[in-house]
Amino acid sequence: MPHNEPEISVVIPVFNEAPNLHKLVSRIAASLDEYGRPFEIIAVDDGSTDGSVEILREIQDSNKRLRVVLLARNFGQTPAVFAGFSHARGQRIVTIDADLQNPPEDIPKLLEKIEEGFDVVNGWRANRQDNLFRHASSRLLNAIVSRVTRTTIQDYGCALKAFRREVVDRLLTLTHHSRYLLVEAVKLGVRVAEIEVAHNERTEGKSKYSLFDLIRVNFDIITGITVAPLQFIGLLGWLFAFGGFAMSARVVYFRIRYGDISYMGTITALFFILAGIQMVATGLMCEYVGRIFIEVQNRPYYVVREVIE
Ligand code: UDP
Ligand code: MG
Repeated sequence: MPHNEPEISVVIPVFNEAPNLHKLVSRIAASLDEYGRPFEIIAVDDGSTDGSVEILREIQDSNKRLRVVLLARNFGQTPAVFAGFSHARGQRIVTIDADLQNPPEDIPKLLEKIEEGFDVVNGWRANRQDNLFRHASSRLLNAIVSRVTRTTIQDYGCALKAFRREVVDRLLTLTHHSRYLLVEAVKLGVRVAEIEVAHNERTEGKSKYSLFDLIRVNFDIITGITVAPLQFIGLLGWLFAFGGFAMSARVVYFRIRYGDISYMGTITALFFILAGIQMVATGLMCEYVGRIFIEVQNRPYYVVREVIE
């Protein structure tokens, strides 16, 4: 490898992080200087309007290990990371947020773990410094995602991660829009390790995610990895229909046994049967919609890890 080729690329999505940038770049550089391998830092500006771009230019003027990618507008955190991936030249690629909630001093730990033979090393914020609501909702989400993807990953949402080049190349071939880094990597069948990393409160700037954004993101992740919610409607339909049939049987039984007929019972039974049929029909439609959804995602059908010959 030529001397000036970076071995490590650090990708940072930046959206209105002006007060953090100087410290961020110098702490990452110091941490990787100590690690001792050639590196580059790729800051992807995701349409900042607070002067972040000017600061990045200024830092870049005196530090050629920083490369800056500017996006045309605010596309979102994951698109910004992917834009960084497509410019990364290193064999190892690290992602980290710009807000210093994850200390850059943890980067070498992740890189060392990769060298043990893992494809992806995920940071786990065992001591997470976010508010209770975020903490609780992300625990629930992690539990659901781990179950669906059959992993034991604790912290799908941690931004501090390290990847082998091959995984990033593979990720870059994805074509669907709603992507969540670690979920996509896991779906490719990677060897993933998770290690504890430190986590601090945000000291400068604000979180870019409102409550509504978080609900949206969580829902999007679930509907992006499983069609179970669609199938649930069909199942519910069968339950309704069977409930309705049982109620009809009860009405008929009372008619034979006691000779009286309950109009209310008949109407309720009919309602349940009709609602059930309706929901089964919707569920069936959802099955087909689900198939279309899976096809349009166009994920690779399989991924070969290695061929030995
Ligand atoms: N970010 C981005 N585009 C966005 C939102 C966020 O590039 O539309 C960046 C942001 O600058 C930060 C990272 O993504 O580097 C994570 O954002 P934030 O710290 O606000 O998220 P939180 O820690 O609150 O989940
Ligand atoms: Mg943050």
